[in-house]
Amino acid sequence: MGEPMTPQDRLTDEQGRLATLHRYDILDTPAEGAFDKITEMVRSVVGVPISAVSLIDRERQWFKSIAGLDAAQTPRSVAFCDHTIRQAEPLVVADAQTDARFVDNPLVTGDPGIRSYAGVPLRTPDGYQIGSLCAIDTKARDFSPEQLAVLSGLAPIVVEQMELRLLAERDTLSGALTRRAFIAEVDKQIALFLRHQRPSALLLLDIDHFKAINDSHGHGAGDEVIAAVADLCRGLSRPSDSLGRLGGEEFGLLLPETSEADALAAAQRFCDTLARHIVPHDPPLTVTASFGVAAVGRNRLTSASWIAAADAALYAAKRGGRNRVMLAPQDALRAA
Ligand code: GH3
Ligand code: MG
Ligand code: MG
Repeated sequence: MGEPMTPQDRLTDEQGRLATLHRYDILDTPAEGAFDKITEMVRSVVGVPISAVSLIDRERQWFKSIAGLDAAQTPRSVAFCDHTIRQAEPLVVADAQTDARFVDNPLVTGDPGIRSYAGVPLRTPDGYQIGSLCAIDTKARDFSPEQLAVLSGLAPIVVEQMELRLLAERDTLSGALTRRAFIAEVDKQIALFLRHQRPSALLLLDIDHFKAINDSHGHGAGDEVIAAVADLCRGLSRPSDSLGRLGGEEFGLLLPETSEADALAAAQRFCDTLARHIVPHDPPLTVTASFGVAAVGRNRLTSASWIAAADAALYAAKRGGRNRVMLAPQDALRAA
């Protein structure tokens, strides 16, 4: 048996840190108001143009929220926040151009032209630093003790919010199950298949060219479309089916007691109905989606492998021209 871990050990235990981060199941999830409110508050109270909740993954920093900059992620190698998580104290860089660690950083020499930075680690209850809450300016500046106190006060609220969202079962925009809750349902169906050979099928759908809706009608219209697609799926499915939001504009439908052929027919019905559906908006909007269908089976006895099979079929539907349904063949080798 080894010695108990000290706080210093936690700072260097990268495997433990990544496992903790991944347990929150938050990377690549859609924006959520609670986090956006915090970064907006940092901007106004600290008086900076940019604020972010940055999470440090193995090779990248991913922003759960970023105010004042249009970016989803950066390589880890250029992340200021990757320095923040390596120390217990806040990291303050008053002038990146005179700091050897950052003077050559492409985020300093190029867009967005970071000049100063203050970041406070996001420390989980078990002591791992998974990211930071930061304030960024494009001019050299100091941060007052009061401004640092604001960041230090808000950082634990970010972590509490991450803890709370783990307990949540439903996504607020669509009313669908969260990814985590949906996967728990998938696992239950696998257990039923193993114990009683009960059939069931999984549908994945991803809205086609969704980015174009956001780009031409605004993010609010995009949100309305996501909610409308979820409503339509619920309207067409049985009460015993589960609907989950697996990503931004990607949903999963789990159909218990449903054969492969029936699931394929259901997916085709959903696909056709969605293509004809008009989303009330000014102007009215229409969308299509691509579908992948996979029945449970002996090659699909983990949620990851079953979802991967449906995802491969969904990808084939996209490549085949979108607005269509593809079936994952039972005996196909899993996509690499
Ligand atoms: P494809 O047909 O290949 O699926 O193209 P696409 O444009 O639908 O796919 P892509 O993955 O390139 O774009 C998805 C976009 O969805 C990007 C992201 O900004 C947006 N998005 C993700 N979550 C949300 C959300 O909650 N609301 C809104 N309005 N947009 C979102
Ligand atoms: Mg899409
Ligand atoms: Mg997508």
